[in-house]
Amino acid sequence: MEYRNIQIPEGGEKLSVKDGKLSVPDNPVLGFVEGDGIGPDITSACMRVWDAAVARAYGGRRKVYWAELYLGEKAAGIYDGDYFPAETLAAVQDLIVSVKGPLTTPVGGGFRSLNVSLRQDLDLYACVRPVRYYRGVPSPLKRPEEVDVVIFRENTEDVYAGIEYQSGSEENEKLARFLKHEMGADFFDGAGLGVKPISAYGSKRLVRKAIQYAVDHQKPSVTLVHKGNIMKFTEGAFRNWGYELAREEFPEVTITEDELWEKYDGQAPAGKIVIKDRIADIMFQLMQLRPAEFDVIATMNLNGDYLSDALAAEVGGIGIAPGANMADHVAVFEATHGTAPKYANQNKVNPSSLMFSGAMMFEYIGWTEVAGLISAAFEKTIGDKVVTYDFARLMDGAEKVSTSGFADALIRHIESA
Ligand code: NAP
Repeated sequence: MEYRNIQIPEGGEKLSVKDGKLSVPDNPVLGFVEGDGIGPDITSACMRVWDAAVARAYGGRRKVYWAELYLGEKAAGIYDGDYFPAETLAAVQDLIVSVKGPLTTPVGGGFRSLNVSLRQDLDLYACVRPVRYYRGVPSPLKRPEEVDVVIFRENTEDVYAGIEYQSGSEENEKLARFLKHEMGADFFDGAGLGVKPISAYGSKRLVRKAIQYAVDHQKPSVTLVHKGNIMKFTEGAFRNWGYELAREEFPEVTITEDELWEKYDGQAPAGKIVIKDRIADIMFQLMQLRPAEFDVIATMNLNGDYLSDALAAEVGGIGIAPGANMADHVAVFEATHGTAPKYANQNKVNPSSLMFSGAMMFEYIGWTEVAGLISAAFEKTIGDKVVTYDFARLMDGAEKVSTSGFADALIRHIESA
């Protein structure tokens, strides 16, 4: 593919999909988007850490060839004011795996969020957020080490699908009339209206990805989180379709929680994943009181939005929480925080969210040694109480370092591993 401004580095080879599986060469080209605001600071720090971990893990046998892709303010400077160039979209698809920093959403005048555009245009239907504890990280929980879950949040449906009608608009009045007079619905006049579509297709592909993850990573359970006691035909349907999918596509490796008690006296046989479900409100309690009971969570967009940030707060907050948006194979790994514009170009903020998103990316391409080295180096650096400002204010006796200083400390631990 010919690009106008994107350079594919020489010596690198693109990833491909063979027989439904990702095929990764030893010299892969991976995409990166620097991002706006604090993006350049954290991206340059992370790339040094990622390259150091790859070099330490494989001693030159494997190497990433980074291709810079442009979105946001940097793109606007290069592509005549276009924040979302079509060739970037094409490259994200062509390279299959990319990592991106945060992007500004300019406020006002019908500007679609770039992150939302990327998700919608590439149909990145699963937002994946691993949440686990690292020793030494400040946490409000008594036993934060029990938190180790991966959240699969549906990205394309639910009240987030953007089907909304403003109070007082012609469309709103038309819909309100239809709902009241033809469907027998009852609500206050002039209410704003939103539609919450939840489909079997959208639910099943999300649950499929969550169960496949549990299979690939030997996780003991997948929990469907929903509010089906109240919203029976959307949230309740998600739950039912989730169980149906498990029964139809993973019958050999899954059992339901009912079967666990009826047939196995509460002890899952080796190799079986327990599929269970919990109502969303109790799930928030359980994740604080008994987090060890959960491994993989599959849920719809709004529940997943709340749950992801609430769980991230249990183990250090958004400064370190990693994430990715994925289609069947195409995946964009990204920092979960925003551009924090007041800290831009100050070499100050915590690069860990992007760094762990990168670690997740290396796991995704099968380079698990790299992810392992990064996690171990992080734990040692935090153990030394060497931290950026956000953690320093929560810890006694910490040594506060800059973004690049934190990367230097990580690299020292990686190189001496
Ligand atoms: P934000 O950029 O996430 O920043 C909010 C606060 O979170 C910061 O002031 C800082 O808190 C803390 N924080 C964020 N990143 C941090 C890091 N790496 N290290 C340490 N602390 C960090 O949220 P925002 O100010 O609401 O949004 C700013 C812009 O980002 C908006 O344009 C928004 O649209 C965009 N955004 C983009 C994404 C994305 O690209 N995925 C996501 C969310 C928001 P303290 O000041 O208390 O230290």
